[in-house]
Amino acid sequence: MTIHKLFAAQALLPGGWAENVLFEVDGGGSFVGVTTNAAPDGAARASGPVLPGMPNLHSHAFQRAMAGLAEHARPGANRGDSFWTWREVMYRFVARLTPEQVEAIAAQLYVEMLESGYTAVGEFHYLHHGADGSPYDDLAEMSRRTIAAAAATGIGITQLPVLYGYGGFGAQKAGEGQRRFLNDPSRLLRIVETLKAAHEGDPQVRVGIAPHSLRAVTPEALDEVVSGLDALDPTAPIHLHIAEQVKEVEDCLAWCGRRPVEWLLEHRAPDARWCLVHATHMSEAETVALAASGVIAGLCPTTEANLGDGLFPAEAYLAAGGRWGIGSDSHISVSPIEDLRWFEYGQRLAWQRRNVLAGEGAEAPVGRRLYTEALAGGAQALGRPIGALAVGRRADLLVLDPDHPGVATLPVERLLDGVIFAGNRNPVRDVMVGGQWVVQEGRHKDAERVQASYVSTVKQLLR
Ligand SMILES: [Zn+2]
Repeated sequence: MTIHKLFAAQALLPGGWAENVLFEVDGGGSFVGVTTNAAPDGAARASGPVLPGMPNLHSHAFQRAMAGLAEHARPGANRGDSFWTWREVMYRFVARLTPEQVEAIAAQLYVEMLESGYTAVGEFHYLHHGADGSPYDDLAEMSRRTIAAAAATGIGITQLPVLYGYGGFGAQKAGEGQRRFLNDPSRLLRIVETLKAAHEGDPQVRVGIAPHSLRAVTPEALDEVVSGLDALDPTAPIHLHIAEQVKEVEDCLAWCGRRPVEWLLEHRAPDARWCLVHATHMSEAETVALAASGVIAGLCPTTEANLGDGLFPAEAYLAAGGRWGIGSDSHISVSPIEDLRWFEYGQRLAWQRRNVLAGEGAEAPVGRRLYTEALAGGAQALGRPIGALAVGRRADLLVLDPDHPGVATLPVERLLDGVIFAGNRNPVRDVMVGGQWVVQEGRHKDAERVQASYVSTVKQLLR
């Protein structure tokens, strides 16, 4: 089997920054050698410092095309705009999308992710059916479209078909705007089975599930879909939106007398397979219990800011050893740097202190802590061997631009602080996913073609 080699003068390995690193990648796209203090040995040379590629653990691909459509206050109600009014705009938008359009939008999004340093995505996919709510001949049609966009652009994907059954707690009937999302557990599991069979042995694709939220599934349906998944793949990831909104917490209390995170911890004992997306509104007891459970908190700071959700209790959660990763969710920003920056800035604004997430007495600078914890949490949530430059992991890496003002001037141990907290110029120059270069000199190999198709698609949609 052919082994490809890459030499980096500096690279961020699991133990910290290392010098003169020789990477060896097998024909399947995984690292088979990572040697420090090595000679280049005829290998291609990375033009700047090398970082692991960042997993993006939460995406609704089609929402990329509605970024910018919900940023005006409704006449006479500008103090009442919220997540729930945004959701009405989203439902109107979603009503018109065709499979071809979804694929074109996802391809543009994934090109943007790759160019900004995301090398894997968790696609929390709820748009399953045709415009009138009836399923396509192939139940997995829409899921296949996002996976096809991922394959064409080169990003790794964890496809999470969403179980969406109801319009609110206590099995309330779903609304008209939700008809394209609805499945029961057995139909959802058929989608999972189809996708698993289609991508068996493909190291770039993993399949899990996403019960949408406690308001959209019943406890019985949650049990049924999780045991069905266990029978297909007992380690597959399970993602769930939770406690994003105060109203959701209030509705949950009214339904069962428990807060959403509290209810889930009591009834399902979620573990390291689970990713709880947002978990914004938690009591202190929930925060500590969630941190101890081993789940990943799926945080989307720019989307949570855009939707006016609230702030995740990050300081207490991290202090309790909680694990987490980041996602671009509604894609009003597609940049791991901006999401990591706003994760820390939200805390600075709330507490009127600096370096809140560096941790008590921590020696590592805050940028380094944020980047490395988001790598580990993202890899766990996506259920793929990614997130580290190490033997056995996928060869997903970023080469930073050596001419970027931060990269060119800062000592290597401060590099991630310079990248995350200084300026908006993208420092990512080259991106490799599964051993293949997909971005070189800042540009994805198919960027022009993909963007032309995206622009004509969205123009048609907005006509
Ligand atoms: Zn979401």
